[in-house]
Amino acid sequence: MAEDVKRCTRCILPETYPDIHFNEQGVCSFCSEPQAENPPSEKELKNTLDTIVRSHKGKGKYDAVVGLSGGKDSTYAAYYLKKEYNLRILGINFDNGYRSEYAINNLEIVCDTLGIDLLTIRPKKAFLNTLYRHFLRRNGEFCSVCNNLGYLLVGSFCFNQQRLHGYAPLAVGGWTKKYEYQPGVSVTSMQYFFNHLTPELFEELVAQPFIEEDAVRIFMQLNDPRQTHTYSATQREFKRLVSTFIQLPDYLPWDLNNMAQILADTIGWRQPPNGHGSHFDCALFPIKEFLKYRKYGLTQETIKNSVMIREGLMTRDDALKRMALDQTEEPDVYRKFLNELRLSVDDVNGDGEWSR
Ligand SMILES: [Zn+2]
Repeated sequence: MAEDVKRCTRCILPETYPDIHFNEQGVCSFCSEPQAENPPSEKELKNTLDTIVRSHKGKGKYDAVVGLSGGKDSTYAAYYLKKEYNLRILGINFDNGYRSEYAINNLEIVCDTLGIDLLTIRPKKAFLNTLYRHFLRRNGEFCSVCNNLGYLLVGSFCFNQQRLHGYAPLAVGGWTKKYEYQPGVSVTSMQYFFNHLTPELFEELVAQPFIEEDAVRIFMQLNDPRQTHTYSATQREFKRLVSTFIQLPDYLPWDLNNMAQILADTIGWRQPPNGHGSHFDCALFPIKEFLKYRKYGLTQETIKNSVMIREGLMTRDDALKRMALDQTEEPDVYRKFLNELRLSVDDVNGDGEWSR
């Protein structure tokens, strides 16, 4: 851990975070942001979720489709929907060719114990590699590819159900916006993804059999409904055109500290020992963390743990200790991945724009 970096005295965000500033007490601008006025209560959110789920139950062969990776959040989303509402669920898994052993085992366990059908799509390697190569060269990252293709896959599935049957199942993700969205240093946004695709790559994308061009255009026109808040006009419009698409963590207290244990005890889900427990579903995640650290002097874990401090779910001392788990050194898989893409380390654009 770089001890000479100035950090917020409340959370652990460093001075290298773009556009951060500190007040006289050394508290960062993220910690001093005003809180939303009158946010909906837990009970109100649960009532909203009940209403949404009820309106989808028993309408088609599946009540809900859940984007499943085998990681903690998506597994918990499926587990909760089954336990709380006993829904008929289709899990949709995006296989980028780098799923970890833990993720693959968990997918089987989750589906077998909860009684979930699983649809896995593994896009052609040449297609994915073209996209990874493009984003590494242009922007110095590659995670935006899977972040967005997974959602476009679920959206395309729902779009086709709507067209075929006049009804689409509830689409559910386990993306914890609160902890995972990183203003200024994120690569999750769909606008970012499409803004940086060439026209040729866009054509190649919509030509993929698992992608529906009309669904893609709806996502583009609505500026990525999954990143909007629960009651937004964008989400309503997406519902009208395709299906209701929710991130389950927006509706529930998302207990990051106990979720892994609950899943382990109830369905035998497992995570690698001795790690930070985030995003072990993809074997390439250490590369993302390393590239982010090299570019901004901070990892996604640092940002997430800073939010957890603000939420009272982690102490600052614990967060500082957990920094020992950060991927600050180049992971072995980095050179292997670049070799596979036929790129050299110099081809990766260290100055590329991330986020927006
Ligand atoms: Zn702070």
